[in-house]
Amino acid sequence: MKNKNIIAKLKTSGLKGRGGADFPTYLKWQAFLDANSDKKYIVANGSEGEPATLKDSYIVKNYPADLIAGLKLALELSPKNSQAFIYLRKDYYKKYKKHLEKIIGNLPITVFREKGGYLSGEETTLCQEIENKIQRPRIKPPYPVQVGIHGRPTLINNIETFYHVAQIAKGQYKKTRFYTILGKALHKGVFELPLDYSLEKILKSTGNFPTFDYFLQVGGGASGEIILPKEIKRKATGSGSIVIYDKEKTDPWTLMLGWINFFMKENCDKCTPCREGTYRLREMIRDQKIDKKSLEDLFFVLENTSFCALGKMVVLPFRSAIKKLL
Ligand code: SF4
Repeated sequence: MKNKNIIAKLKTSGLKGRGGADFPTYLKWQAFLDANSDKKYIVANGSEGEPATLKDSYIVKNYPADLIAGLKLALELSPKNSQAFIYLRKDYYKKYKKHLEKIIGNLPITVFREKGGYLSGEETTLCQEIENKIQRPRIKPPYPVQVGIHGRPTLINNIETFYHVAQIAKGQYKKTRFYTILGKALHKGVFELPLDYSLEKILKSTGNFPTFDYFLQVGGGASGEIILPKEIKRKATGSGSIVIYDKEKTDPWTLMLGWINFFMKENCDKCTPCREGTYRLREMIRDQKIDKKSLEDLFFVLENTSFCALGKMVVLPFRSAIKKLL
């Protein structure tokens, strides 16, 4: 029996994907339902390769039954021989596989270990990995919801998204999200709090509001935006992570060098804009010499011509750090 009713509930809830792209969940589920195929795939993405993001691990550990209930709802919308995956980074796989499999029982859900690295979580690379192919992104469109794993329609949502889908189905969705708070925080960890909380309210309600001169990185520990104290009425973005930095004790050049080393290590070298762009950006950061015109040209090329999301995401942390911290 197809539980099409869930899509109407998703629409009413206003749920958006929690992997960072903020896409309305009901639209993706509707496209998945509409795609014509006798076999479909569903993936809960728990790659979580962004530094300073721990929420997916927290959900798998604390709410595995809800995650699986979310996947089951998607399976109910799919043809009979469809297959779901819980796609986990290596350390999560090692920790949670056995426990997840106990709850899964006879459902057609496989706990899958990704190859590793930031790119593993990119949705077309994820399809490649499940097909046991080279870890490289594919061109979009077509999007995986139309042409995904083995060319079949594939619904890929973040682990947190499936958790909330289960809450919505039970009528227990409280319009919350999971925030990871790290850095110079007194109470580091993952907190489930209302979606509409400002950064200030999140920090205050978790006992993490800094008593020193600080700045934040919000939305991911590499790709997140730098936020100054005067901006903390804003809401968290991206993966919902908040890293607190002590302004006095943080050298912005060292911080940026860490990010660019991360992006250079994690990119796949497939496309010139990202491969060469990150290399040139690293040169500027390493030499502590920013030529504004070249930098903006570089950002333009990265944002507009990178083959996949990784290259496009490089820009935000550097643009905000250079503007606000130097
Ligand atoms: S943007 Fe970067 S990670 Fe993506 S395909 Fe190009 S080189 Fe690879």
